[in-house]
Amino acid sequence: MFSHRKIADAQASYEDAKYVIFGVPFDHTSSFRRGSRLAPDSIRVAYDNLESFDFQYKVNYPDLPICDIGDLYVEEDPEEVVNDIERSVRHIADDGKVPIMLGGEHSLTTGLIRNFPECSMIIIDAHSDFRNEYMGSKYNHACITRRALEVLGEGRIFSVGTRSVSREEYEDPDFSKIRYFSANEVRKKGIQEVIEEIGKKVKGKIYFSIDMDGIDPSEAPGVGTPEPYGISSTEVRSLINHFAKRIIGFDIVEMTPVYDNGNTSMLAAKFVQDFIGSKERQA
Ligand code: MN
Ligand code: MN
Repeated sequence: MFSHRKIADAQASYEDAKYVIFGVPFDHTSSFRRGSRLAPDSIRVAYDNLESFDFQYKVNYPDLPICDIGDLYVEEDPEEVVNDIERSVRHIADDGKVPIMLGGEHSLTTGLIRNFPECSMIIIDAHSDFRNEYMGSKYNHACITRRALEVLGEGRIFSVGTRSVSREEYEDPDFSKIRYFSANEVRKKGIQEVIEEIGKKVKGKIYFSIDMDGIDPSEAPGVGTPEPYGISSTEVRSLINHFAKRIIGFDIVEMTPVYDNGNTSMLAAKFVQDFIGSKERQA
C-alpha cells in the first residue's frame, strides 16, 4: 500500500482518535541553522524504532486512540502558516481531541495556543523568545513567548531552561509577566521544586511546548540554535509526567535533523510517547 509516513503506533482513524498528530515542515524565519522543516518525518522515522508497549506506564500504544494526519501544506509567509495552523487546530479542538504538532520552528506554536486562550502554558526553551519583532517579523521564532503573552496574559506562562536572553528583552517591563526558570535555577533547586512552584501557580488546563534547544546540546545536538548548559531530558520528562493529565495541546519544535547524530529525533519521538503514555497511564 502506498501512503505517506505516519507515526508507527498511530493506527486509529481521525474519527476515533483522541490524539491527533500532525507535522508542519516550516523553518523560514530560523536565524542560524535551518532544517527544522525536515523534522516531522525524521521524528516519525525515529519513532519506528521505539517499542509499542510501555513498561513505565503499562500501556500498549497501538491500542490507544492515536492518529497521524500527515503534514500541513505550508506557504512562504509565517503569518499565513500560523493562521492556517490556527484554523486546522480549531477543528481538532472543537472535536474534543488533543493536537500534537511536530514542527517546524517555534513561531508555529502561536497558531495552536490561539485556540486555548483560557489555558496556562509550560515552555521548555533555552531562549526567552520575548522579542516583539525580529528580522522584520512578529512571527519570527524569537517572538513566540511574547505572542503567547498577548493571548494568555500575565502569570500564565512558565518557561523552563532559560539561559539566553537579550538585554533588550530582559529590560522590557513585560518580561516579568512570564515566570522564567533559568537552567541554573532548575539545577540548584531540582526539578521537583520547580514542579511544585508551577503546580501552585498554574491555572486551568495546560498547553505544553518543547523547543528542543532547551535540553542540553550534549543530549539534543540537532537543533537550530544550540545553547550550552541546558536542562536534561529526564527533567523534561518529569514535567510531562506530572502535568500530563491537564495538558490539552502539545508540540515539539526547533529540531533540525541536519545537525543530529540521531539522538535528538529519538528523544523527540520519545517525548511524544511519554506525553501520551503519561496521559493514558492507569496508575
Ligand atoms: Mn523557542
Ligand atoms: Mn530556543
